[in-house]
Amino acid sequence: MKGLIFNVKRYSIHDGPGIRVTFFMKGCPLSCWWCHNPEGINPFPETVEKVEKLGNMKFRKSEEAGKYYSVSDILGILEKERIFISQSNGGVTFSGGEPMMQHEFLIEALKACKVNGYHTTVDTSGYSMPANFKAVIPLTDLFLFDLKHLDDAKHKEYTGVSNIEIIDNLKMILENMSFVMIRIPVVPGFNDDTDHLERIKVFVDTYKTDKLLAINLLPYHRIGSSKYKKFNLPYRMDGVQQPSSARMKELKEFFAETGIKVKTGG
Ligand code: SF4
Repeated sequence: MKGLIFNVKRYSIHDGPGIRVTFFMKGCPLSCWWCHNPEGINPFPETVEKVEKLGNMKFRKSEEAGKYYSVSDILGILEKERIFISQSNGGVTFSGGEPMMQHEFLIEALKACKVNGYHTTVDTSGYSMPANFKAVIPLTDLFLFDLKHLDDAKHKEYTGVSNIEIIDNLKMILENMSFVMIRIPVVPGFNDDTDHLERIKVFVDTYKTDKLLAINLLPYHRIGSSKYKKFNLPYRMDGVQQPSSARMKELKEFFAETGIKVKTGG
């Protein structure tokens, strides 16, 4: 069995504890307006045209997005970084796209990583069948779980899918006493109004456990907007400003009232 991966990031420090290798798995059932990895949405390999400049000259060349990796390929990559990983108490992270979309491969990869002593993290939108999460929970040391909007209609409008399964899966993971960091993208005009932020705070406060390690506030940013044209996708966030650092500080203090550690940025 092989998994389709569009990027491998070594020495990653924002996708879980310590120094990690992050595998970005291709394919996502959501289509968030602000997604900064649009190359991760289509679940098939893609070839896109890339323009490179050298002085006044422009060169067109093709670029592959998505390559198949076996579990042994993954272990081979990790083995080369084992010293950095073990000295920093790091590990391996499966991100995306949505890693649960390739849950069969993900399960095999997580099993092999655990057998080989690596700390495992799954970075997920939460959108998958509960049975898939039940299989992944015992193999995952930490979930980075996105919470985008608590209103179903708004969630559907901006991500293309309902939040009902997502919220149920998050509750199930918290009830299973798995370690979790909740990641909230702060997207102006989508989820940053006072009423909604208050609802998220109450939700987190209601379902928190001592294994909910942190709330991670991720400010919307425009990095990745240039990729949309390349992948023939519409960019729907034109005119939306990134939240200021003063605003992020204010939100950090607001969520810290839950007693949970709050981090801002990736
Ligand atoms: S869930 Fe993540 S990868 Fe999928 S579309 Fe949304 S932001 Fe992009």
